[in-house]
Amino acid sequence: MKFPLSMTAGLAGYIFRNKMRPRPEWQKNAVRDAGSANPFRILPPKAGEKHQPHPMIGKRFPIVLMLEPLHACNLTCTGCGRIREYESTITERVPLEECLAAVDECGAPVVSICGGEPMMYPQIGELTAGILQRNRHIYLCTNGMFIKKRIREFTPDKRFYFNVHLDGMRKNHDIAVEREGVFDLAVEGIQIAKKAGFQVCTNTTVYKETDMREIEELFEYLRQFHVDGHQIAPAYGYSAVDDREIFLTRDDIREKFRDFDRIAAKYPVRQTPLYMEFLQGRRELPCTAWGNPTYNIKGWKGPCYLITDGQYKTFEDLMTRTPWESYGPGNDPRCEHCMMHCGFEPSVAYGINAGVADNLKMLAWMLR
Ligand code: SF4
Repeated sequence: MKFPLSMTAGLAGYIFRNKMRPRPEWQKNAVRDAGSANPFRILPPKAGEKHQPHPMIGKRFPIVLMLEPLHACNLTCTGCGRIREYESTITERVPLEECLAAVDECGAPVVSICGGEPMMYPQIGELTAGILQRNRHIYLCTNGMFIKKRIREFTPDKRFYFNVHLDGMRKNHDIAVEREGVFDLAVEGIQIAKKAGFQVCTNTTVYKETDMREIEELFEYLRQFHVDGHQIAPAYGYSAVDDREIFLTRDDIREKFRDFDRIAAKYPVRQTPLYMEFLQGRRELPCTAWGNPTYNIKGWKGPCYLITDGQYKTFEDLMTRTPWESYGPGNDPRCEHCMMHCGFEPSVAYGINAGVADNLKMLAWMLR
């Protein structure tokens, strides 16, 4: 199975419950008419057909919390927006109790601990233990360099994954992270974690210069270490990153992922087949960024992991004060080329625009 049964069942139950009983206060500014700003309007109505609001209208709830306990990092990766956007607070950390309070406040069943380099957070072991105690699933996103040093602070758990960043094979990964030797340390970290009984995923960002044959080579290379899964997504053009040359347009993304089904069939790729169809230009999905809220040193960040137009004190403020209908392709120029999983994969989980065949496709993918 792609995911542990407990994770699949837990997530399915959570989504079902929230669809049946959405919290009314989170739906306050939902656009309920059939106007052009409706974020759920995916397909234009056929001639003579009256447009109906999507059945998911007014059903906002979070699925994955992006928790950034700090923004400090030991690397300066070329495509990273965080170390640039948060330069002024780079030395600050979210206290442990505040991180756990954010997990409780949000209630998302999955927590992605990111940053910065979260393995530099002094209480990272306590933080993961506290989240697991709350029965949440964790992806700990790391460059892998500190796994060897800090592995004793963690205990293997079927709800916990190390998610190691690898953008290519040795030469190109080290160029992307702007330091030699990082690839080897990351791979060593993967091996150590696997030997200690942990589940390990990798996380790859595709840039303009990425050769997808190298990504296939990377996945093949990682097979020997029994890596549990691979996450992959196109890069987003952060305004904080000057180098416009490295980011992709939607056409570039479609071209990069055109042949990706073949790779996804061979390796344990974690992205859903419906999100892949979106990347390939075979399916439209709306942005549902509220599915992946971000919490960091400045509070709840909106509208999404990528754009910061607001920082809110409470999760409720994020949900009710963000003008969600103003974002997404066609609504905001900054969203035009975005196909990041944090904006669009929640739409798949919500079942937006999915028919019976799509649900069967998802089931087959999960059971594979
Ligand atoms: S389309 Fe992308 S950049 Fe725009 S709000 Fe959604 S996730 Fe953020």
